Formats: sequence, C-alpha cells, structure tokens
Amino acid sequence: MTDPAPKLPPARERAGPIRVALAQLYPAVETALTHANPLQLLVATILSAQCTDARVNLVTPALFARFATAHEFATCKIGELEALIKPTGFYKNKAKNIRGCCAELVARFGGRVPGTLDELVTLPGVGRKTANVVLGDAFATPGITVDTHVGRLSRRLGLTRHRDPVKVERVLMELVPQPEWTTFSHRLILHGRRVCFARKPRCEACALAPLCPKVGVAGLAAKRKRAKTRAAGKRRGNGENATPDVKT
Ligand code: SF4
Repeated sequence: MTDPAPKLPPARERAGPIRVALAQLYPAVETALTHANPLQLLVATILSAQCTDARVNLVTPALFARFATAHEFATCKIGELEALIKPTGFYKNKAKNIRGCCAELVARFGGRVPGTLDELVTLPGVGRKTANVVLGDAFATPGITVDTHVGRLSRRLGLTRHRDPVKVERVLMELVPQPEWTTFSHRLILHGRRVCFARKPRCEACALAPLCPKVGVAGLAAKRKRAKTRAAGKRRGNGENATPDVKT
C-alpha cells in the first residue's frame, strides 16, 4: 500500500508558490492568437471557441486581409464570411456572432472595440472569457480568463472546487494579485496544454507536483476505472443486468 499524500497547506498559502513556479516555467507569455489590433483579437477569440489557436491562426490572415474594419465585417455577405472561417468549426454560428458583434460595435461604439468588461459582454458572442482575453491582451487591463485548462488546473491544484467559470474567476481574482491576472491565466493554459493534460496528466514530469493535491490523478482515475470494470464483471457473473428472457 502506498503512503497517503502529505497534507498540503490551504489554497491561499499555496497560490503564491504556484504563481512563482509557473512564472519560472513560462516567463514570457502572451496570447497565441495572431492579431494586430483589438478588433482582430476580438474576432480571433470568437473563432477560437471549440478550436485550437493554431487553426484560428491559419484562417485569420485571409480573413483580416478581406475585412479590415467592424463596418466591413458588419456589412459582409454571410456566405463569404462563413467560407473564410469554415475550418474553425461551428462556422455558421461564429459568422452570425462576428457579424452581429461588429454591427453593435458600429452602432454603439463608433466601430471601435470598447475597453471595459461591462461593455464587452453586451456584444453578441462575447462572454466573460472572450472579454478577459481582449482586455488582457489588447488593452493591458488584467483579467482572469477561465477556459477549459484554467478551470481544470485550478481544481486539480486545489485552488477551487467550483465548476462554474464565473465562480472560478472570482476565486482566482482573490488568490492572484491583480497585475498578474492575465499572465497567470496564460501560464495555467500553457501548463494545461503541455503537462497537465485532461486525460493523462504528466504528474511525473510536473514542476507543480509538490504543490498539487491531485498528483497522480491519472493513476487514480485508471485504478477507479479498473475497479469499476471488475465490479461490473462480478455483477454480470451474478446474473445482474443480464438480458431478460424474451417471452414469445
Ligand atoms: S501534479 Fe499532475 S495533476 Fe497536479 S498540476 Fe501537475 S500534472 Fe496536473
């Protein structure tokens, strides 16, 4: 039997060392989405939903060459926009959101991307996650971006138990100093992409392991799966869940 994991200090005491360790691992961080201005970052971030940044970066050069302003996006032919962004998936919905969002930018903000969270989240297709990316990387206004990686790592690292992204965001805002909100988000995302994978986290190669209450989580999950399979096999052996006789 293995020794139980040593009890770790509470989240508020580990948050500092976790920040330091992440900063050492990923000193220079910025969004991977190629952009030249806030509008391009906003559009690229909408496209990045359910899609990799690398794939978004493949379509945006042609897209931004064709449409340069919010007015051009707002008045474009939807079919042309859809064709340009198709490789990013969910293209019909994304095209609708981009055009709707840009129409709002023209109507309410003089064609410019607003620089506050409250204004950004009123735009079609723009939630807190997208808004915080734009604020952090286009306006240098710190924001915690809770995507799938940030949510998963925050829970594994025991910083929060919440699954609701807004609640995770609030907890991290308490634990991380405001100037680091954007960089901390980027670092967690990078660690999620490179080490702490959703299915098979590489705990054995993880610099955060001494600070992580879920170290070895992949092994535990595999153990649980084996136990479940064994239990299901036993039930079948006992006749439970057997296919009932069919009366003819
Ligand atoms: S020790 Fe494992 S679960 Fe914890 S952060 Fe590292 S890779 Fe993720």
